[in-house]
Amino acid sequence: MAQPIVVSKPARKTVEAEDGLSAFTTQEMYREILSRLGEDPDRDGLRMTPERVERSLAFLTKGYDQDPGEILRGALFDVDYDEMVIVKDIEMFSLCEHHMLPFFGKVHVAYIPKGKVIGLSKIARLAEVFARRLQVQERLTRQIADAIQEAIAPLGVGVVIEARHLCMMMRGIEKQHSSTVTSAMVGCFRRKETREEFLSLVQRPGNGTI
Ligand SMILES: [Zn+2]
Repeated sequence: MAQPIVVSKPARKTVEAEDGLSAFTTQEMYREILSRLGEDPDRDGLRMTPERVERSLAFLTKGYDQDPGEILRGALFDVDYDEMVIVKDIEMFSLCEHHMLPFFGKVHVAYIPKGKVIGLSKIARLAEVFARRLQVQERLTRQIADAIQEAIAPLGVGVVIEARHLCMMMRGIEKQHSSTVTSAMVGCFRRKETREEFLSLVQRPGNGTI
């Protein structure tokens, strides 16, 4: 007797679910999530919550609509300066892409120009454009370094981010006061002396983690 041919069909469930859900507004979906948490989405404190969450998440991810190259192109200046330029302690707030919970901290950026510099405020703007997306700290660090390298082709770029992750702190995985440090070094910042000069300039007393 012939064996029935087993056709392994790809699970269609996800696609169907997506198709079905696209008919609902974002606010309706947040309302549904509130119900599934066991809440009453109609009680006073929660009635406007879906709307607020939608607006707040749109703000926290607005970096997707912003072009980092365009921001930098508007603020490039020719200079005859070849010492290290450092912008440190840039405040950063982002959302981890694994839990959509905040991670936040400080970004330190340095580069050695080769004919061009970037307006200082634009470096903070650049960090913000990448931070206002769902991120992992390592990629955020790398993207800031790469964008600067691409915009002004300096001799080198270094980026260090120190951050605390609520997904670890709130869930008790990380000690409450520890922070995660990531770095991206491009060009001459790969050389030990340049990297060490940068790190010693951004290092704070008592912070032995970098
Ligand atoms: Zn996370």
